[in-house]
Amino acid sequence: MKTEEANAHLGYSDTPVLPDSGYHVHDGTRPQPKTVRFPERSAIPDDAVVLFDGTSLEGWRSRKTGGAAEWDVQEGCLCVVPGTGDIQTVKEFGDAQLHLEFRSPEKVDGKGQGRGNSGVFLMGRYEIQILDNYDNPTYADGTVGAIYGQYPPLANPIHAPGEWNGFDILWKAPVFGHGQLLSPAVVTVLLNGVVQHHGQPLQGPTRHKELAKYEPHPPLGPLVLQDHGDLVRFRNIWYRPL
Ligand code: MG
Repeated sequence: MKTEEANAHLGYSDTPVLPDSGYHVHDGTRPQPKTVRFPERSAIPDDAVVLFDGTSLEGWRSRKTGGAAEWDVQEGCLCVVPGTGDIQTVKEFGDAQLHLEFRSPEKVDGKGQGRGNSGVFLMGRYEIQILDNYDNPTYADGTVGAIYGQYPPLANPIHAPGEWNGFDILWKAPVFGHGQLLSPAVVTVLLNGVVQHHGQPLQGPTRHKELAKYEPHPPLGPLVLQDHGDLVRFRNIWYRPL
């Protein structure tokens, strides 16, 4: 007997049928959510796809050349090497839960957009801004955690320069059909455990000094990290496809 049928006793079959799934309300045969463990030791869920484990650039490429990524691995961190360009993952994904940690240099250099600037480009197109915004104001839609050029974050919980910050990002990819946008990308962002965006639809791929506009693209894309010329470091990068 299939597991689903064996679970029938867990619920009901004499209740109305839900419109989208075809299951009854409280249906015992509806597939069980998978069991996931989140061991405290590694702080990575056991079904996560690890993109950077602190040891190698395997799985990353230069965005510019498609060849080897030219950033450094030092002290368990993935480090921007200014001038070498953005890097991107070989793995591609759409809807996902993404986690990554970043740190700007302890020694403060520059101001505004010129201080600890990097960025997380989901599907290679949609930037969640990274910036050392600790006592460092800039235009609101360029704040750390901003959907760059579109939406400022609801809050700025950035830690002091030299301290680690953690992003948790829930990403819903845009859907296209017949060359048209059917539903926009939607993102929820937490920085250091504080909500910065709550189910925010995006206006389109990130643009600088221009309005965003959707163009159809494949349903999966790489994670891109930005070289904006600043010595930003990353660690503990993983995602769970949803
Ligand atoms: Mg940036």
